[in-house]
Amino acid sequence: MPTTTNKDYYATLDVKKTATAEEIRKAFRKLARRYHPDVNPGDKRAEEKFKEISEANDVLSDEKKRKVYDQLGFYSDQVDPAQAEAYARQQQAGGRHTVDFDGFDFSGFGGAGGHQPAGGGNPSTWGSFKDIFSGIFTGANGEQQAGGPQSGTDLEYQATVDFWTAIRGGQARIQVNRMDGCPTCHGRASTGGSMRCPECDGSGQVTQMGGRMKFTIPCPRCHGTGKTADRCPTCHGEGAVHSTEVVEFRIKAGTRDGQRIRLQGKGNAGVNGGATGDLYLIVRTGSHLVFQREGDDIHLSVPVTVAEASLGAKVDVPTIDGRAQLKIPPGTQNGQKLRMRERGVESATHPGQRGDQIVTVEVVVPHLQDERSREIMRELAKLNNQDPRVRLFDKV
Ligand SMILES: [Zn+2]
Ligand SMILES: [Zn+2]
Repeated sequence: MPTTTNKDYYATLDVKKTATAEEIRKAFRKLARRYHPDVNPGDKRAEEKFKEISEANDVLSDEKKRKVYDQLGFYSDQVDPAQAEAYARQQQAGGRHTVDFDGFDFSGFGGAGGHQPAGGGNPSTWGSFKDIFSGIFTGANGEQQAGGPQSGTDLEYQATVDFWTAIRGGQARIQVNRMDGCPTCHGRASTGGSMRCPECDGSGQVTQMGGRMKFTIPCPRCHGTGKTADRCPTCHGEGAVHSTEVVEFRIKAGTRDGQRIRLQGKGNAGVNGGATGDLYLIVRTGSHLVFQREGDDIHLSVPVTVAEASLGAKVDVPTIDGRAQLKIPPGTQNGQKLRMRERGVESATHPGQRGDQIVTVEVVVPHLQDERSREIMRELAKLNNQDPRVRLFDKV
């Protein structure tokens, strides 16, 4: 019968039992570099060794698994850490209790063979021992953990949407890498045939060591049947395959930067009939050379002449709907902001509402090319000789 023997993971990684997490990590990386299959193509022994160190690292690098291993001398996902601790305490406190484990093979246990519970057998001891192994029993008795439906995970992508599409609405597309249901096995991970269980080599039973005891349990992988479902050759038993897909989605008019769109069933495929996850898109709205969008408002800078700014004027400015007239009040200063109500973006969330367009006035000072213009400017300065810096000095 194949045996899950006590493996000395510390020896495998060549570290002390007291090694720190950092020491274990370093030791594993050193060995992994040496035995990695990529470095040793076709070398079966290196591959075997790599599997061993990976297994050792898997247990020792995980604080909880390591604790169970330290206490029992083996690690199994089916042993509850609390039960392992109770068992270890029992071992330390207890000496040897003669307990009858029906169905266990005690051949590795000192003085095995037909021990009956001693007359004064301690019931509380028996109880705690039973608890330890009940974890193994329930796991082995086959709650279909491996074979049950597993939901696919959700995906999140950022999707950049053109400036105008975000404002007016429309279709957009994005390339997504996702796990798709396997076309061969349709997510079942198996083609329906069976094969000899590799864990127990078809016997349906495995032997585990627990401290000084050796016991036989139904194989947790095949639940004692000796057979497991074969692996789908297309997806290697994953039930899903990598796929790159162009996903098309609808953009509502007025969609804002940072908005989330949920596309149901476009995430990763589930396994064994599990639901497919969803795809979440975070919309990034594209920029524009003239318009800057802030929520539903549109901002832009509009240059005006000194004459327009000081005398007032009506000027044509661009809006997202085309040209519109903007009134520049007399005496408008450089940098002043003028609001054009309801010339912004139509709200995606509040139908019928629109943002504003906010114009920042940019006064353009003329380069005077001729003497007559300069003469007029000097004349103007004489007529308007206020000092614009007076109030600056007041504040110093
Ligand atoms: Zn498949
Ligand atoms: Zn098996």
